[in-house]
Amino acid sequence: MRDASKSAARAAAAAGSGATATVGRIFKVVRDRGPLAASDIVRLTGLAKSTVSVHLDRLRAAGLVKPDVLPGGKRERLKVAANVGSVVGIDVGQTHLTAALCDLEAVVLDRRRVPLALRRQGPGEVLDKAAALVADLCRRAGVARGQLLGIGVGVPGPVDFARGVPVSPPVMPGWDRFPVTTRLAKRFGCPVFLDNDVNVMALGERDRGVAQGADSFLFVKIGTGIGAGLVVHGELYRGAKGAAGDIGHVGLDGSTAACPCGNRGCLEVVAGGAALEAQARAAARTRDPARRSRYLAARAAQRKPVDAAAVGLGAAAGDEACVALLMDSGRAVGSVLAKLVNFFNPSLIVVGGGVAGEGGVGERYLASLREAIYRRSTPLATADLVVKRTALGEDCGVVGAAVLVLDEVLSHQNVSKLVGRRT
Ligand SMILES: [Zn+2]
Repeated sequence: MRDASKSAARAAAAAGSGATATVGRIFKVVRDRGPLAASDIVRLTGLAKSTVSVHLDRLRAAGLVKPDVLPGGKRERLKVAANVGSVVGIDVGQTHLTAALCDLEAVVLDRRRVPLALRRQGPGEVLDKAAALVADLCRRAGVARGQLLGIGVGVPGPVDFARGVPVSPPVMPGWDRFPVTTRLAKRFGCPVFLDNDVNVMALGERDRGVAQGADSFLFVKIGTGIGAGLVVHGELYRGAKGAAGDIGHVGLDGSTAACPCGNRGCLEVVAGGAALEAQARAAARTRDPARRSRYLAARAAQRKPVDAAAVGLGAAAGDEACVALLMDSGRAVGSVLAKLVNFFNPSLIVVGGGVAGEGGVGERYLASLREAIYRRSTPLATADLVVKRTALGEDCGVVGAAVLVLDEVLSHQNVSKLVGRRT
């Protein structure tokens, strides 16, 4: 053994029981901040140079990091080796089921998307469909059983993350405590993680979306349902039981609309996708010129769907009544977000989901949202607050589910085990 590696081995041994976690810690720094030179890692972790060196050798031997080749680069810089294995992200939506094969940086390599009727199809049928998509993706990419490091699943309902089961999800009949993770784990022989779709999307934004580099931020999904994911100092905050961020049933002052949850005036029944659909139908029918939408009335006459998406189309076409409906929804959501901003003081709010819309419609929606937040929050809380739309679009759910797996499989402790197994 060379002297240098002997002293490095001593340094690793001197770190005692913490040494096994150290390799995971170094890997996390490379994953989060890489490509990095060894000296950067020393500076960022505060570990001894010899300790960093011995663990980098282990990570390299295990195939988890590799040099980043830059033309003319003098110092060797290391990054996560994206090809040592793959992960799969699954997005279970109300109308679509999507699965994507991703590399270790959560970059989508391949995806499959099929229609779904979540309210009618039970968990067994949906998971069989999902398993078929995963098997197909692996076959197409030539990913063998052992190369799949894990599967992440996002579902539109509350999830007990530790147990890997949905808990009384209102839009998923038959899924209450269904063993989603054990079922898929048995089938594919790899770890499986389940979380609600909004938490998963927040993770996707953190690692691959517009929230990269944001320390603490809020992700808000405004679709059929309304929910929020909280990232605090880079980590997802799930709360005591996993229910953190469930803002759809926050009560709005002055509203008496009945919600299926049993309360009145919940944000979701005032501003969610189903509420917009009901308001759109009313705007198509009414003879009150102040509320009537010519655009939606014309669609109804042509027997085209009059729903939340139609309101977006109408607003984009300049229909005043549709614009007003969207602005009302934006203001209602904004008034609840203002309370969260005062309480949590994030630096960024990322908005996703169907109602927030694409292009010009999305911008108008965001404008009404921003206005309500600024009007009702303290100046200090909004001083540097940025409100943006997701840039991941339809991939947000699958990318986030892949990040969910990577967070768990490549955590300090688990990387240590992985390195131990491979070297
Ligand atoms: Zn409610």
